[in-house]
Amino acid sequence: MRELFTIFGNPVSHSKSPLMHNLSFQALGYSGCYTRYKLEDGSQLRNKFFELGITGANITVPHKEEAFKACDVLDEFAQKVGAVNTIVKKDDKLYGYNTDAPGFLKAISEFKDIKTVLFLGAGGTAQSTSVVLKDAGYEVDILNRSSKRLEYFQQKGFTTYTFEEFNINNSYDLIVNMTSAGLEDENYPCPVIYLEKLFPKAKFCIDVIYGKETPLLKLAKKYNRPTKDGSDMLLYQGIIAFEYFTNQKFNFEEIKQHMQKAFIF
Ligand code: NDP
Repeated sequence: MRELFTIFGNPVSHSKSPLMHNLSFQALGYSGCYTRYKLEDGSQLRNKFFELGITGANITVPHKEEAFKACDVLDEFAQKVGAVNTIVKKDDKLYGYNTDAPGFLKAISEFKDIKTVLFLGAGGTAQSTSVVLKDAGYEVDILNRSSKRLEYFQQKGFTTYTFEEFNINNSYDLIVNMTSAGLEDENYPCPVIYLEKLFPKAKFCIDVIYGKETPLLKLAKKYNRPTKDGSDMLLYQGIIAFEYFTNQKFNFEEIKQHMQKAFIF
C-alpha cells in the first residue's frame, strides 16, 4: 500500500516540499505520496496525523513547537532545541526530529575556512541552527533588533546584541540573515551602515530566504562576497527528512540528484 506523507503549516500553498519528495519517490520507485495540509490550530497536529493515516510529515511555520509537544519520542537534538520539523510514525508512536539545523550546517560547510558567524535575527530558525553550529565548533554571535528573543541565546552561552548594543568594529567570516526581512519587502535585516562595515571584513553571506535575491544578498555581491540563498538549506533538510521517512533505504547523494529537480520549476 502507498504510504502517505504531508507538510503541516499555515500557509503551505507556497511549499516546495511536496514536489521535492514526490520527485524522489517517483524516481526511486518508492511507493509514497506527499501532500500539503493547511493546519490552523497547531494543537490538533497529533489528532490530524492519526486521523489522516499518514506515515510521516514535515512541519513548517508556525507549528514547530507544537510538533515538538505532539511527539512520543524525540531525537536528542530536537529535544535540545525544542523544535521539530519532521515526524515519522513507527508502531503507533510519533518520533520527532529537527532537520532544519543539520540542513543549514551542510549548506554552510560548502563554504570553507569559516570560524566566526554573525546571525542577524533570533527567531525559531536561528535558535536551532545556532546550536548545531556551536556544537560543530563555529563561534556564533546573535544580533537582533529587540532584546526579548535574545534570552534563549544568552542562556545557551552565545554573545548577543540588540542594534543599540552592537559594536561595528566586530568582524565575522560569515554573515547570515535569519529574519524574514527582504522576503516580502526590500528591507535589510539590520541597519545598512553595519553591513557596510561588516562586508569588507567578511568572507561569505547566506540568506535563509529562498527564491529571490534579497537586498542583503545584493549588497554582499557588491562587495564580491560569495553568497547562497536558502535553497540549499531547504534542499538538505528535505533530503535528511526523506532518509527518516524511508528509514534510510537511500543515500544522501542519491536523493539529492532527484530532489534538486524541484528547484528548476
Ligand atoms: P521567526 O518569526 O521565528 O523570527 C523572526 C526574527 O526575525 C526575529 O528575530 C525578528 O526580530 C526578526 N525580524 C523580522 N522582521 C524583521 C525586520 N524587518 N527587520 C529586522 N528583524 C526582523 O522566523 P523564523 O525563524 O521561523 O524564520 C526566519 C526566516 O527563515 C524566514 O524568512 C523563513 O522563511 C526562513 N526559513 C528558511 C528555511 C529554509 O529551508 N531555507 C527553513 C526555515 C525558515 P524581533 O525579535 O525583533 O521581532
